[in-house]
Amino acid sequence: MKPAKAKMPRKPVIKKGSQSNLKDPVGVYCRVRPLSFPDQECCVEVVNSTTVQLHTPEGYRLNRNGDYKETQYSFKRVFGIHTTQKELFDVVASPLVDDLIHGKNGLLFTYGVTGSGKTHTMTGSPGYGGLLPRCLNMIFNSIGSFQAKRYVFKSNDRNSMEIQCEVDALLERQKREAMPVPKTPSNKRQADPEFADMINVQEFCKAEEIDEDSVYGVFVSYIEIYNNYIYDLLEEVQLDPIKPKLPQSKILREDKNHNMYVAGCTEVEVKSTEEAFEVFWRGQKKRRIANTHLNRESSRSHSVFSIKLVQAPLDADGDNVLQEKEQITISQLSLVDLAGSERTNRTKAEGNRLREAGNINQSLMTLRTCMEVLRENQTYGTNKMVPYRDSKLTHLFKNYFDGEGKVRMIVCVNPKAEDYEESLQVMRFAEVTQEVEVARPVDKAICGLTPGRRYRNLPRGGPVGDEPLVTEVILQSFPPLPPSKLLDINDEETLPKLIEALEKRHHLRQLMTEELNKQCMNFKALLKEFDSSLLNKENYIQEKLNEKEKLISGQKSEIERLEKKNKTLEYKVEVLEKTTTIYEEDKRNLQQELESQNQKLQRQYSDKRRLEARLQGMVTETSMKWQKECERRVAATQLEMQNKLWVKDEKLKQLKAIVTEPKPEKPERPSRERDREKILPRSVSPSPVPLSSSNIAQISNGQQLMSQPQLHRRSNSCSSISVASCISEWEQKLSPFSTPVNVTSLARHRQQEPGQSKTCIVSDRRRGMYWTEGREMVPTFNSEIGVEEDRCRRGDVYKTRGGGQSVQFTDIETLKQESPTGSRKRRSSTIAPAQPDGTESEWTDVETRCSVAVEMRAGSQLGPGYQHHAQPKRKKP
Ligand code: ADP
Ligand code: MG
Repeated sequence: MKPAKAKMPRKPVIKKGSQSNLKDPVGVYCRVRPLSFPDQECCVEVVNSTTVQLHTPEGYRLNRNGDYKETQYSFKRVFGIHTTQKELFDVVASPLVDDLIHGKNGLLFTYGVTGSGKTHTMTGSPGYGGLLPRCLNMIFNSIGSFQAKRYVFKSNDRNSMEIQCEVDALLERQKREAMPVPKTPSNKRQADPEFADMINVQEFCKAEEIDEDSVYGVFVSYIEIYNNYIYDLLEEVQLDPIKPKLPQSKILREDKNHNMYVAGCTEVEVKSTEEAFEVFWRGQKKRRIANTHLNRESSRSHSVFSIKLVQAPLDADGDNVLQEKEQITISQLSLVDLAGSERTNRTKAEGNRLREAGNINQSLMTLRTCMEVLRENQTYGTNKMVPYRDSKLTHLFKNYFDGEGKVRMIVCVNPKAEDYEESLQVMRFAEVTQEVEVARPVDKAICGLTPGRRYRNLPRGGPVGDEPLVTEVILQSFPPLPPSKLLDINDEETLPKLIEALEKRHHLRQLMTEELNKQCMNFKALLKEFDSSLLNKENYIQEKLNEKEKLISGQKSEIERLEKKNKTLEYKVEVLEKTTTIYEEDKRNLQQELESQNQKLQRQYSDKRRLEARLQGMVTETSMKWQKECERRVAATQLEMQNKLWVKDEKLKQLKAIVTEPKPEKPERPSRERDREKILPRSVSPSPVPLSSSNIAQISNGQQLMSQPQLHRRSNSCSSISVASCISEWEQKLSPFSTPVNVTSLARHRQQEPGQSKTCIVSDRRRGMYWTEGREMVPTFNSEIGVEEDRCRRGDVYKTRGGGQSVQFTDIETLKQESPTGSRKRRSSTIAPAQPDGTESEWTDVETRCSVAVEMRAGSQLGPGYQHHAQPKRKKP
């Protein structure tokens, strides 16, 4: 037995729509959702349970050249990122449900940018049921056992409710149940995991102080405001696949209490959380389909899910609902998921979508304006008209702001930096809104007196068990027996009345019997069905169990196999690790060895290089030494040979001279010869070389010719012979290189006038100088008087690549001497060599002149043109 509850205090009946003088501000709450990615830049910070702080993000500052700003906003309560849906519900929505159950209206909306968590907050996400399913849960938890039977309350098209008697309700139920409306099977509903996850609210929540003397009915409606049009999301539309109908928009109307409502909007009576949420889900699906078909952006529409709670008092016996319409109390809780508050340019909408966005913004803008005007009126006592009618959204909820209920708003914020600007706008709107005060709705009288709860206190099968009540209903409608006493014989009323009543009773009894039989049959059938289903289920479960067992055993063996494999692999890994260690050790050793070998090689290489260099030096030195030695030996041999040849030649020529030209004896000659012999060894290579006018002549093995001091020692009396032979030899040597004009001419002279021609060479090998001297007869005008010329050619000596020497002549000096018969005069163009005795000598033959020439050079008595001093220089051995 349920214990009888203390009666609620009676409250005065206050006419619907009346207001009290007390006012409450609009409750504005803030919920900050977590960042989608932990590395996102954040611009919102929860300072404490009532304050959030927005700071300018870096990217925004850079783009706008703005300063860093921090702004704090206060709310009734701030919910940080770790807030659970339950916490939020307890603070924000639970009081509204409480109010609803106590007959007060409530409006709760979520406001914020798209993606800020409005839908997550209102509807929830799988596993995280939002405010909507929690509200439903709390309502049904609270009124569960006091719900009126289905169809007792009937909504009409004028935003009010009607009551049917229970028999009528029963009949309507039966009628509807007979209708072939395909009901969504519960297992199909549960097949939608998202659906099941959303309503799976674990926490039990219940309103306090429920009026147990009333019955309750819950009606839900679900509308969408899109593009400033209202669409009913629960409307049953016959689907025509050929010509699908466009959804019809609904209009707003005002009822007799000046409340706004959507005319013709479907209101579905629901008896449980599941059923209510199912209806919501249906609407949600329809919304999605419409959005897809009509290419609409779901975040651009406002959705309003309304829960209407109807309550009516029981009669004095507590058995039946009072059939007086005036006793019905209707309260409504509207849960509004607003469209994204972002501005149009943010989403870059185009064409139709831009228009939609504009309208959405228009709705939200109107909401803002309404708030602002309300605040202004309240703050400054003005009486400006609030532009509710400017948008459907504000028009629909105008009563709430005019004091017909509590208004609460949850401002959802996404703390990411990209939403900073929009979040600022949201905060500003929130600031305005929470300054608006709304008249506090007064508690509504629940109903009249309810003296007994007989009916309630009866033990009952279930909270809303329809079927056991059928017989009760019939019992209640049993006509009472009229008085059966016959006081008068002529009494013709009592009996017929009794008969009528009995007949009625009999009829009812029959009905009851029929009903009973029917129920029995139904029950039996149900029992059978249940039995068979139980059996089936048992079998099914058994099958499943077997399957699962098989699966488990399979998995077990699989696990065992894998474990074995794992062990083998572990062993292999161990072995491999060991091998790797060994290899690594080997590698290290080999590397060390390699390094030492490399170093050794390097050392050897450098040693080799040093040795090579040394050997190279030695080879060069030795080869040079040997080359010089060879040259020296060749020269010596040649000289020796030449000497021998010359000795022979000289002897031959002396002999010839003696034979051909016997000369008178000259007493001074021997002394001259002696003098010359003294000088000659000091002079170098006085070989007579009459060279061509060409300045360059190459003489191979020139030094051989130039280093023959012996030559002059031998040419005492027959120097002309030696000079001539010398010339002939030089002619031979020079011929390949130049035209030996002077040589041939000299040779000619020698042949014609052997005693009058003289050629001399002085060479200084060290300085590279080279002289020749030639004498020839130049004819003058007077043919009797001839001029004798001594020509001296000067040049430089160079070594040639082939090992020989070349001479480059740079100057010619001429020594002239007139030769009249008897007297001779010697002249030089550049120098005038004087005789040692200061007198002009008379040169009569070649020998004399030659010896003088040689003496001249040897004694260094040359003029400025003869800068060479004839110091004899012999070649190095
Ligand atoms: P809106 O309705 O404002 O456009 P949603 O509610 O659809 O935004 O949220 C967008 C996404 O962010 C969803 O995937 C939702 O699950 C997630 N979300 C929003 N708020 C929260 C929160 N407080 N905690 C965890 N996830 C959230
Ligand atoms: Mg949303």
